[in-house]
Amino acid sequence: MAKVLYEKDINNTVLEGKKIAIVGYGSQGHAHAQNLRDSGYEVVIGLRAGKSQAKAEEDGFTVYPVDEAVKQADVVMILLPDEAQAKVYEASIKPNLKEGSALAFAHGFNIHYSQVVPPANVDVFLVAPKGPGHLVRRTYEEGAGVPALYGVYQDVTGQAKDVALAYAQAIGAARAGVLETTFQEETETDLFGEQAVLCGGVTSLIKAGFETLTEAGYQPEVAYFECLHEMKLIVDLLYEGGLENMRYSISDTAQWGDFVSGPRVINEETKERMQEILKDVQTGAFAKGWILENQAGRPQFNAINRAENNHPIEQVGRELRDLMPFVKQPIQDKQKEVKE
Ligand code: NDP
Ligand code: MG
Ligand code: MG
Repeated sequence: MAKVLYEKDINNTVLEGKKIAIVGYGSQGHAHAQNLRDSGYEVVIGLRAGKSQAKAEEDGFTVYPVDEAVKQADVVMILLPDEAQAKVYEASIKPNLKEGSALAFAHGFNIHYSQVVPPANVDVFLVAPKGPGHLVRRTYEEGAGVPALYGVYQDVTGQAKDVALAYAQAIGAARAGVLETTFQEETETDLFGEQAVLCGGVTSLIKAGFETLTEAGYQPEVAYFECLHEMKLIVDLLYEGGLENMRYSISDTAQWGDFVSGPRVINEETKERMQEILKDVQTGAFAKGWILENQAGRPQFNAINRAENNHPIEQVGRELRDLMPFVKQPIQDKQKEVKE
């Protein structure tokens, strides 16, 4: 079994007295910066002039242009959108990295697909929280944390692993568990997971269920509750105790339906599609498509996004959620607050 590390296993003296530059102040950036500061570290923020800059200053941080922040730092954590990292790295990070400092990432994409090629005289590691930034902050404040993966790509000081672990501890991840990985494994599993299961898989499953019911003449409101709203209740049970716990809580009729119908929806053919998705991730085909899409100004991304936001399930969902004040404010709105 993989070795999971907790606070007691980590020696954080290697990070003491080091200045940490957080480049980017979005979902992950605001969480890492605030957790590191609350853990006693000196943090500066590297940003362009813009909305995040105002937000970071409001939160009490000193904000520098990216090159200035990098010059001062012993650890540079890049928390820009993956598709923006290569350009900012070439222009403002690479020329200013101190020898023997550490370059860090929360996702291995740019290193693994060679969009960022670090110099030979710095450590390179990743600490990838397995959850959104807003949870990384909220759970830290609650005395808990979001689990994270850590990995070392390049170790010139002999301390890269210890620095990565101390960093993971400082953002609260070691309270939940920290697991060793490589840039390759983190990148490929993260991309596969979000595409096939967590984001792509779940949204497609929900939409297909909703469409099947409404096309058969059932009320969209009923279909919404059935296929989307209840998903959270089921996922909470899965999160707390796995498949068995969820099945313990549902009726035996639901459990029998789960056994006989689940494999008719997600079957061997679906798995073959998943294997193709994984291949595209492993060969770099997915990465290439995403990099080119960005270079072209995101024509497909924007068109699909507009269409998705107008899907009937979204229209009925907005109306129903307005009537359910106990349903929490969407992260989307919170994100806007962070960015505004
Ligand atoms: P966000 O999109 O939330 O944040 C982006 C930040 O970068 C903003 O502060 C933005 O500032 C700034 N920025 C964007 N472009 C530039 C630029 N050209 N120059 C300077 N600053 C810029 O990113 P995430 O937090 O989602 O992602 C950061 C990293 O964390 C990625 O590697 C991602 O894969 C990883 N990750 C993300 C997770 C998540 O839940 N979101 C989970 C685990 C890992 P401005 O306001 O000026 O646009
Ligand atoms: Mg992920
Ligand atoms: Mg990801």
